[in-house]
Amino acid sequence: MKLSHRVQGVSDSLTLRLNAQVQEMQKQGLDVVNLSTGEPDFAVSDAAKDAVRKALDLNRSKYTPVSGIPELKERIARRTSLQQPSLTAAVGPWKSADVVVTNGGKQAIYNAMMAILEPGDDVLIPAPFWISYPDMAALAGGHAHRIATQFKNSFKLTPEELRSALDACSQPRLLILNSPNNPTGALYSRDEFAALGEVLQSHPAAREMWILSDEIYDRVILGDQPFCSFLEACPTLRDRVVTVNGMSKSAAMTGWRVGWSVSSGPLTAALSVVQAQSTSGINALAQWASVAALDLPESAFEEQILRYRNRSRLALDILKKAGKLEIVDPKGAFYVFFGVQYYLRPGEGSAAFCERVLKEARVAVVPGDPFGAAGFARLSFATDEKTLELGCQRLVDALKES
Ligand code: PLP
Repeated sequence: MKLSHRVQGVSDSLTLRLNAQVQEMQKQGLDVVNLSTGEPDFAVSDAAKDAVRKALDLNRSKYTPVSGIPELKERIARRTSLQQPSLTAAVGPWKSADVVVTNGGKQAIYNAMMAILEPGDDVLIPAPFWISYPDMAALAGGHAHRIATQFKNSFKLTPEELRSALDACSQPRLLILNSPNNPTGALYSRDEFAALGEVLQSHPAAREMWILSDEIYDRVILGDQPFCSFLEACPTLRDRVVTVNGMSKSAAMTGWRVGWSVSSGPLTAALSVVQAQSTSGINALAQWASVAALDLPESAFEEQILRYRNRSRLALDILKKAGKLEIVDPKGAFYVFFGVQYYLRPGEGSAAFCERVLKEARVAVVPGDPFGAAGFARLSFATDEKTLELGCQRLVDALKES
């Protein structure tokens, strides 16, 4: 039977598939160290758990408004405004009406693509990128235009690269920015974002373009450089930006599926329409849990952040011993992205390399190709220190034998 043109050529998520493969190997009794998943290993806060119990007792389990319960939207608006003080000072804080609560950040991105793209529109995606962006663009009828970035710039998009991409595209409609970045751990500074904002304002081909800023790793900051929200650096672009975030990474709530978008007027209405006719409002209990988790002070997550910082150092110290890995020093998120070109056997790409490492060294890392970076691989340090140390050591031992 015939399937739609829309789904042809679109793949499922490689990271989720790889994770399933590892779990299958582990079920068979094989000793595999899994450094492939971008999922915090920390337990969810007691506050979130208690809130679910309370919501159940109060029978708060009916349909919710499509764009989320007011209590949650209000907190999200406040959280976002606090990260964008310049914008808030200029035009006032975000309001609940600007928020759409979604099934994870993933649905917020998908909603945006569905609401924004016309067939054939170009979605500009700096590479390396989160695996799902190009396929989501394709599902929404768009065309992923990958912008190559450079290792020497920690793979951050430069104004020149953005300008050239705009010159090359026939229908530029949406630019995706992601800081802290999955898979590279790169973190854009205010000046770097402001320089991109200048191009987005002045380049003739960018005038009708939207910007999606995926800020899902905003709370996982590994060093002294602070997080900067895109709109904090470029407040004048307010009406063209949709900011995406969620509970998965910042509050270790991946399975609860709570994300959101914050945007202005007509776009927010369109995002709500997409959601109304696809999923409706998200799980009511998860929303109440998120209200409680968002009421926690940032200090409640300090321990987690310190652990991530230690883990990034632990992983880097071991990986550097391999000698010839090209490592991007991560400033945020919980990944190390590294070039393995030196270690590839003749005819081997990074996917084959990762398969070999999985089979022979029993450590799972994700190949860079689906992130738009051939010759690279990504490991996640969202796992306990012992497992991480063992996995990194196995990887380095395997590289020495390459
Ligand atoms: N954006 C990035 C960069 C991600 O890495 C992820 C998850 O891995 C998401 C968005 C979506 O996360 P969720 O749907 O769990 O909120």
